Amino acid sequence: MQKINVKPGAKLADYKAYGSLYSSVLDFLEQAKEPIESLKGCTIWMINSTAIGGGVAEMLPSQMRILRELGVSIEWLVIEAEKDAFFDLTKRIHNAIHGSGNGVFTEEDRKIYEEVNQNNLPKALELINDGDIVVVHDPQPMPLAAMIKRKKNVSIIWRCHIGLEEDTEVTDAVWKFLEPYTNDYDHFVFSLPSYAPKSLQKRTSIIPPAIDPLSHKNRELQLHKCIGILYQSGILDDHKAILYHRYKHLVRKVMPDGSFDFLDADENLDLIYRPIITEISRWDRLKGFKELMEAFIKMKLDNRKNGDPKSLEYKRIEMTLLVMGGPDPAFVSDDPEGKEVLKELTETYKTIDRNMQNDIAILLLPLDNPKENALIVNALQRTSSFIVQNSIQEGFGLTATEAMWKRKPVLVSNAAGLKYQVVHNKTGQINPDPTDIESLSKTLAYMLNHPKERDKWGFNGQLRVIQNFTLFSQLVSWLKVLSTNKA
Ligand code: UDP
Repeated sequence: MQKINVKPGAKLADYKAYGSLYSSVLDFLEQAKEPIESLKGCTIWMINSTAIGGGVAEMLPSQMRILRELGVSIEWLVIEAEKDAFFDLTKRIHNAIHGSGNGVFTEEDRKIYEEVNQNNLPKALELINDGDIVVVHDPQPMPLAAMIKRKKNVSIIWRCHIGLEEDTEVTDAVWKFLEPYTNDYDHFVFSLPSYAPKSLQKRTSIIPPAIDPLSHKNRELQLHKCIGILYQSGILDDHKAILYHRYKHLVRKVMPDGSFDFLDADENLDLIYRPIITEISRWDRLKGFKELMEAFIKMKLDNRKNGDPKSLEYKRIEMTLLVMGGPDPAFVSDDPEGKEVLKELTETYKTIDRNMQNDIAILLLPLDNPKENALIVNALQRTSSFIVQNSIQEGFGLTATEAMWKRKPVLVSNAAGLKYQVVHNKTGQINPDPTDIESLSKTLAYMLNHPKERDKWGFNGQLRVIQNFTLFSQLVSWLKVLSTNKA
């Protein structure tokens, strides 16, 4: 068990200084007064299984900073597990909550699950006191809070970041496996009402995940900074010309006769305009990377077969680059499947013809350096024409919210969380079936060739995030849950 230090970051005054966030902060401060008063004297313990990577590690630091600024005592613990078998099991539980896998969980599984949590118990008991509140994120540390509750007078809350809208045999089986622990919990938090199994609904609150608009991942970055970041991190490498030349049509050039002129936009299209489509996610089959790559290739091949080489539409598609970014597996401890999924993707990539390979970049991001990782993700999202999140299942895709905050239109699948975040034709496109390569490739082409729509959707998307998915709307809900569930 490890206690995580949260580094200093933006303060309430910094958020207030942003005109678009001002009223969200004021609303939050007004609504926070009473619950914060009632939380005096107790500590809130957030427990999860990793300090880097994924949605939970992304959101906790900023939430904690703001609550601490307002005088709330809040700490973050990460469980330790040496056994690969443990993370294999918790990944199976994770997948089963999303409805995939075979739904078989054995007594041997339970033994591993409880043993690892039991090993983390002594340290937890040293730190946590009677009257405190323990919030466990996702399945990995679920048994731990139940164990703590047997020894201390604490209230325990389970925050589940994943879910499937309908019950299936597999989800029934995993909820049955988790029942001995859920029985002990006082309260549950899910991202959507339909994610909570019926048996837990009476004790459940709904809080959609949110972003911190001023974190390194989301703060404003000027284009030259984006280029600098991508260049310094080596990502630009082969592709650097793309970004350097992208804005050339804005800059007039001195001609041999001393006059100033633009580059000829049509003739130099390959130099001045290269759209980028990006998906950034963990290497997980449920993120739909493989299908996205297939659809992207199909879009290019169809264009070569049926398009008019003289048209702007043809050239745009021909020039487009697909970026698929995810964590360098060397730094991810709690996702054993990641390496395998990345290998499958790179093996497929190796079989693609050379020309096409030049249009696809698979990037491994430095999760071991959270600030650098965040700035790279930020720069990639900002330099893209639009962002894709082609998830086959998705509890709630933070990457889509991050993109919308940056005024990027998004192309998402209709996986439950995503279709709640994105409004079809207003903030992007919802493609009904992430495995339908034909329709995905058409939607990619449609978005590429409708730049005006993209601008509008990006603008609407940012507004939607400000109204629903920032840190402040989320904290109002959290304070309500915490103050009404005090031991
Ligand atoms: N992320 C990242 N680097 C990566 C891959 C993902 O920083 O290489 C971040 C991404 O920007 C987002 C989070 O990890 O903030 C993923 O959250 P999401 O809800 O999209 O998916 P989850 O991983 O929770 O299933």
